[in-house]
Amino acid sequence: MATSPRIAIIGGGPGGLMLARLLQVAGTPATVFERDPHAAHRPQGGSLDLHVETGQRALFLGGLEAAFHAHARPEDQGDRLYDPSGVLLFDHDGGGFERPEIDRTALRAILLDSLDEGTVRWGARVSEVRPRPDGACEVVTEDGAAAYDIVVGADGAWSRVRPLLSDASPLYEGVVFVEMGFEAQTHRFADELTGAGKMFAVGDNRALVAQRNGYGHIRGYAGWRTPEAAAQTLARQPAEEVCAAMLEVFDGWAPVLTEMIRQGTLLAVRPICALPIGHSWTSRPGLTLLGDAAHLMSPFAGEGVKLALADAADLADALTAGQDWTVVAQAEAVIAARAKIAAEGSADGLRTVFSPDGAAPVLQHYRERMAG
Ligand SMILES: Cc1cc2nc3c(=O)[nH]c(=O)nc-3n(C[C@H](O)[C@H](O)[C@H](O)COP(=O)(O)OP(=O)(O)OC[C@H]3O[C@@H](n4cnc5c(N)ncnc54)[C@H](O)[C@@H]3O)c2cc1C
Repeated sequence: MATSPRIAIIGGGPGGLMLARLLQVAGTPATVFERDPHAAHRPQGGSLDLHVETGQRALFLGGLEAAFHAHARPEDQGDRLYDPSGVLLFDHDGGGFERPEIDRTALRAILLDSLDEGTVRWGARVSEVRPRPDGACEVVTEDGAAAYDIVVGADGAWSRVRPLLSDASPLYEGVVFVEMGFEAQTHRFADELTGAGKMFAVGDNRALVAQRNGYGHIRGYAGWRTPEAAAQTLARQPAEEVCAAMLEVFDGWAPVLTEMIRQGTLLAVRPICALPIGHSWTSRPGLTLLGDAAHLMSPFAGEGVKLALADAADLADALTAGQDWTVVAQAEAVIAARAKIAAEGSADGLRTVFSPDGAAPVLQHYRERMAG
């Protein structure tokens, strides 16, 4: 590996931006190719918690501890569980946890603000990454092709880099999620339901979820088991059809819960997909992956962003170690092993929430967690 390799990071999500920051801190600049035309192009999604040993560690290594604490919301770590008739089965205010919430938009802004001018190439959708005989790779966008010594695929679920390393592709997990938005000020029922952080209402193979975000926003999800073709069809329907479908799925649930469907602003329909648990690849000098591109999983372990940030820390160490690619291969093995554990947790979480047994398995999960 050259002493100062040309590094391209494909994708300016949390993983790609974190890697760019850590490389910059180590004196090794990189270029981030991001398809969004600008930072505010689309909402970045809801709130997420960051754990000390993964997400928070990466931010601290990047010198972003103060910025993180300025935006973090330690007060929003609570959990609630309801049954379909609206009975509150579990209520914890989140006191004693060390996994403060932060909005994804705030996290992205912290990372973007920390990067040198010009690091991110906005509106740069990568159509192809082409290996060259000399070992470098061409990154192809509609503006042309440019050569890099190292290309990191941080481009999420449908990565353009992953096919160069692996035949694996995400598969539908049997559950569709409809994402909705609320304002605590105007949607008082949602504010009260949500409590001090997050609430689940769980019935047989279906669930409603609400999560407190910053600035008085609340993000809601309706999820249920359905065949892939039905989920894909739903994703193409207008908002009123999606609302009607949800009302049918949650027919018979308490009005205080179905009010979420009636009043929520539809944000997205997401068929939930995942890569095979334990996904890994044969290491290939000059090309690597991180985050969802490496190990997309369903959101039920709540680990996706934390893993992406932790991967960035491991890869930054390896890429700046001044040694050959073996060190990167070792980092990839660490990344795959850590993700395998989280992916197993995610698959377990999905089975727990979407089971024929309704809220009982989720209640047991919360009780076991409280018991330590
Ligand atoms: C409903 C839902 C809820 C979730 N909740 C949580 C949670 O609470 N906690 C948690 O930790 N995780 C959560 N996740 C998972 C989390 O969103 C992902 O794991 C995380 O965003 C992965 O980060 P990443 O940087 O690897 O990829 P991404 O965030 O997907 O970023 C990839 C970036 O690459 C860009 N890109 C893609 N293709 C190209 C291309 N061809 N050229 C250029 N740019 C490209 C995209 O625009 C994007 O900016 C949730 C996911 C879902 C679906």
